[in-house]
Amino acid sequence: MVNRFFKNDLVRAEEICGKSLADDPYAKSPYFHFTDWPVVAFDIDHTLARYRLDNLHKLCYDLVVKFLVDKGYYSKETFRPFGELDLSYAQRGIYFYKRKGVFLKLDEEGNIVLAYSGTTLMDLNEALYKYAGSKELIAMKYDPFFREEGADRNEEPVHCFDDFFTTGTIYLLMELVQKCIDEKDPDFELPFKRIMEAYNFLFAKEDFARGEGGFFSALKENPSEYLYTLSSDFLQWLKTLKESKLALLIITNSKADFANFVLGFVIGEDWRDYFDAVITSAKKPHFFTLTVRNFYWLDGFEQGEVVKPGEYAKGREFCHGGFFNLKYIIKAACGHMTPRMLFVGDNLVGDIYACHETMVCGVIGVVEEFGSERSSAWGPMLGTKSEPSFWRRKLEQWTTGIVSSVETLTRYKPDERIIYSSPEFHVFTYRYFKSDLPTRREKVPLVSASKRQIAL
Ligand SMILES: [Mg+2]
Repeated sequence: MVNRFFKNDLVRAEEICGKSLADDPYAKSPYFHFTDWPVVAFDIDHTLARYRLDNLHKLCYDLVVKFLVDKGYYSKETFRPFGELDLSYAQRGIYFYKRKGVFLKLDEEGNIVLAYSGTTLMDLNEALYKYAGSKELIAMKYDPFFREEGADRNEEPVHCFDDFFTTGTIYLLMELVQKCIDEKDPDFELPFKRIMEAYNFLFAKEDFARGEGGFFSALKENPSEYLYTLSSDFLQWLKTLKESKLALLIITNSKADFANFVLGFVIGEDWRDYFDAVITSAKKPHFFTLTVRNFYWLDGFEQGEVVKPGEYAKGREFCHGGFFNLKYIIKAACGHMTPRMLFVGDNLVGDIYACHETMVCGVIGVVEEFGSERSSAWGPMLGTKSEPSFWRRKLEQWTTGIVSSVETLTRYKPDERIIYSSPEFHVFTYRYFKSDLPTRREKVPLVSASKRQIAL
């Protein structure tokens, strides 16, 4: 008999067991298929819209440097052109311990495995001696999921680089921290604050319409330099999901005008035809964690009137909102009053962790690093099988499966049983065994590390 749990290949249920699963010891073992869910919801950036990462990182680096020089924070001569080092150090899941000016990579238990002080690789024993016992890092080990938002981004003692928009300037930050070390300036947080100020400026949501900030105007000018389009196979696959009576949603943090622009490019001007409802400016992770928030209608691309109870079926495009009221949109989309959905997203915290926390949704993580890790100064983002990284373990615990691109999903029919991992689609079947579900002790609320310290 095939040992399905160790064979490193995709095996469909029927291929192993024939048409009947009745005699199979794992007959009740679960499999995964899309029609388990009444709704499949998608994030946009880095999920439906895959970016050309090298170009994206360069754009962000150049714009951040320009901002820092224009503001008079540093002289032009401080900076070098974007290059290989920036790509090599661009990795999601790296932590910056602000007060100490150290950059950390963690193992599956949350212990430090790699530490840089500025740009200097630290001896691991020294790093452990200096930092492993610090209150901030111990708190982070058990609560690594906070996400700093907007202007408050400097409240937390530790920052996690959890998306591709900011990873391209990790090495720039390391250099600016090294400059502080060399000049014996103990304010290691200052370069971080300045870079985050730059990102707040670049990504100000109203700038897409105004054409300011530089980021949105660059994308508008030449979208094909930064974005891939979706294949006709994927669009056909979306249609087959709809034909299987699944409702399809978009839940994105992007403002409506930017979402319209990006989907117009990656899908086409008819992108709305593929979806039953679209939610923009969702503010994930708060969409999932601060659940009782009102949905609003769109007035053009701007926030309009609040959606009143009983009105949800009157339209298909909403903004803001929270998970509690999402069931009304789902009811309007597919006829079932349920909060259950399969969410497909990329952000480690805002999408994957936060959606998992609802405990009623499945999550497919779009993890570009999966199966195609680029060579990195940090080693593989997911670690290796024998030495998994912190995020690999979290992804295993908290997603239904991961894929490197949504295009991978086109290989599976909506009602097809997929029972375990493959190089392309890793289905974490143990999620379906009750005894292996994460325990309450493992579940931690999405609160800040500093608040947690106070609670302790
Ligand atoms: Mg995203």
